[in-house]
Amino acid sequence: MAAPQEKRSSEERKHKSVPNGAQKSQGQWGRAWEVDWFSLASIIFLLLFAPLIVYYFIMSCDQYQCSLVSPLVDLLLGNTRLSDIWDKTPPLTYKAAGIYVLWVTFQVILYAFVPDFCHKFLPGYVGGVQEGAVTPAGIVNKYEINGLQAWIITHVLWFANAYYFHWFSPTIIFDNWIPLLWCANILGYVVSTFAMIKGYFFPTNAKDCKFTGNFFYDYMMGIEFNPRIGKWFDFKLFFNGRPGIVAWTLINLSYAAKQQELYGQVTNSMILVNVLQGIYVLDFFWNEAWYLKTIDICHDHFGWYLGWGDCVWLPYLYTLQGLYLVYHPVQLGTANAVGILILGLVGYYIFRVTNHQKDLFRRTNGNCKIWRKKPEYIECSYMSVDGTKYYSKLMTSGFWGWARHFNYTGDLMGSLAYCLACGFGHVLPYFYIMYMAILLTHRCLRDEHRCFCKYGKDWERYAAKVPYRLLPGIF
Ligand code: NDP
Repeated sequence: MAAPQEKRSSEERKHKSVPNGAQKSQGQWGRAWEVDWFSLASIIFLLLFAPLIVYYFIMSCDQYQCSLVSPLVDLLLGNTRLSDIWDKTPPLTYKAAGIYVLWVTFQVILYAFVPDFCHKFLPGYVGGVQEGAVTPAGIVNKYEINGLQAWIITHVLWFANAYYFHWFSPTIIFDNWIPLLWCANILGYVVSTFAMIKGYFFPTNAKDCKFTGNFFYDYMMGIEFNPRIGKWFDFKLFFNGRPGIVAWTLINLSYAAKQQELYGQVTNSMILVNVLQGIYVLDFFWNEAWYLKTIDICHDHFGWYLGWGDCVWLPYLYTLQGLYLVYHPVQLGTANAVGILILGLVGYYIFRVTNHQKDLFRRTNGNCKIWRKKPEYIECSYMSVDGTKYYSKLMTSGFWGWARHFNYTGDLMGSLAYCLACGFGHVLPYFYIMYMAILLTHRCLRDEHRCFCKYGKDWERYAAKVPYRLLPGIF
């Protein structure tokens, strides 16, 4: 069902002027059309080094008990050579390749061939066929929302195997972690390269393609907005949601199983990481229809950033806490464990309520109650590439009146809780909060730039009314 805002938008197709001072940017509110030197340098840096960064983290756990400094010190002091480290790294194996192919194939089947039934019996859950937001070319794509179902089926099978069938050990993911890394990289590069070729030769929607003329930028940030195979296999939804995010909770469970195998118990820190990240993942699938309206689906094109990132970066680096706890089992005191749990739950609450407020506000076109009051908002307008004018609203009450991205603040609190659960023995588990702080601050600036290009003076009015980005009174 189209959101009321979009229905209204389609009624406004005859207007051809922009009253908000955004004429220069008409229809230019997707990703960049021109590449500056800084963006290009960052992109080449990431293309070259992101795979090495992932390898370095995983290798340092495998060979140096998760110390990020020891490999460098060893290399600098001449105690080891790069070739020694490489020689000790497990290679790609047939077993890992088999596991990975089975895993991805299973997720493709669940995604493409099993229509959602969860929405038929889970009250409040929105699944089945849903519509995304209006693309820059003015198109509204339809999506089959069945991620929760895929997650449930996968996890039921996982537990059925662990407790009943015993087809494979629940430590299977940990035991093949580096060989699986090679498989994930292969898929990440294949899918990104395929998406690039597809963008040139057989795009799903040519009007939503962007060519900057810079090969590296286009490869990284993507050409096609919503590449699809057939009517329903949407690359962005599939690779963003599965196989990476469905795997996230399984990877953590595998780490917990490994702790049990090695030490005869699962520590409370491991349980905390499993529970807090489990809530985050489950929340993602429960709200998958809402996810269609987030930046990933609404604004980002599909290139290496999403393709490789979803296959490699997310499953390997978002799960570092659990991996670390296999090598360093931390048993937290009760007060610390409770404190971390509270931080994680409050962060989650802010994250969820802020996202929910925007979703409700946009779905009802402002005809709802936020904190028991009618929401306050600023009316705004924008144009798509064909010059069609649309109207929208920016909420200025609820958490959206506290800061322009308070949902990111909640997300950061939750991320900090996962890291704190690992104690203070090493830097490695804190990578996540550092990365999220950079990612979300950059995303915040990127989004605001895009919103300014889209809404012009209306966005300036909004920013004047809600002056802070993440932390009221500070930033
Ligand atoms: P948002 O959900 O904050 O969406 C931003 C968009 O919302 C803007 O582009 C604009 O879109 C609209 N908007 C902005 N301000 C308002 C307002 N006041 N009222 C109504 N609409 C507004 O951002 P994301 O999509 O980045 O994030 C979604 C969630 O996902 C966040 O909670 C974030 O923390 C999380 N996330 C997690 C990541 C992870 O790796 N764990 C990575 C990225 C995000 P429009 O054009 O429609 O006006």
